[in-house]
Amino acid sequence: MSENKTGRIFSIAIDGPSGAGKSSAAREVAKRLGAIYLDTGAMYRAMALYMLRQGVDPHDAAEVAARAGNANIEVAYENGGQKMLLDGEDVSTAIRENAVSAAASAVSAVPEVRRLLVMRQQQIALTQSVVMDGRDIGTKVLPRAELKVFLTASPEARAMRRFLELKSKGQDVPLDQLTREMAQRDHDDSTRAASPLKAADDAVLIDSSDMTLEQVIDRICGLAAAALEGKS
Ligand code: C5P
Repeated sequence: MSENKTGRIFSIAIDGPSGAGKSSAAREVAKRLGAIYLDTGAMYRAMALYMLRQGVDPHDAAEVAARAGNANIEVAYENGGQKMLLDGEDVSTAIRENAVSAAASAVSAVPEVRRLLVMRQQQIALTQSVVMDGRDIGTKVLPRAELKVFLTASPEARAMRRFLELKSKGQDVPLDQLTREMAQRDHDDSTRAASPLKAADDAVLIDSSDMTLEQVIDRICGLAAAALEGKS
């Protein structure tokens, strides 16, 4: 069991579209609450990278489903940070390539991929306190989470954040291309049959368009304190 500041195991689900600031906020919230942070998008990205490396078309659902069980994906923690391992290799940087984003969206629509990764995510939350971010955490992975947040922002704000994030990593992708790709991913993630992106009925909606990261973190920590207080 991980050490946390409430002395009991809890789960916090943070869902929302890409670029809403989920991972930066979730990472810091986890740190403040003494929980681990699980970036579930990174697991889908690692699965996508596996398929690309195997020469499998990420849109070939039957082939992706047939091979998904062979991907050796592990989540490791080092100095408080999450590392993604694929067949033992640290692929934390490789999975952030822009080309992997579209492939991740495609493989994540395959039910067998979701079945395998959701099972892993639920296992992780059984034994330790987690702050988990993704698309279906509140609706499917952790339906009994103590706190569910749906974090969103305007498409313009989200595309600009992704643009700056990629730029800081030396990847120069034009803003209009990112805006188009993001709209496509939003559409695909929200309309797919398997666990579409949608806020859980009991999620708290936060629009981060005009908020700083610090404000988002404070708001979620405040909600978490209130939610956990009643249960300790
Ligand atoms: O969060 P991130 O952008 O890294 O996620 C990559 C892709 O993985 C998303 O576009 C989405 O299709 C998929 N995903 C998902 N369910 C999750 C997390 C991510 O379908 N829980």
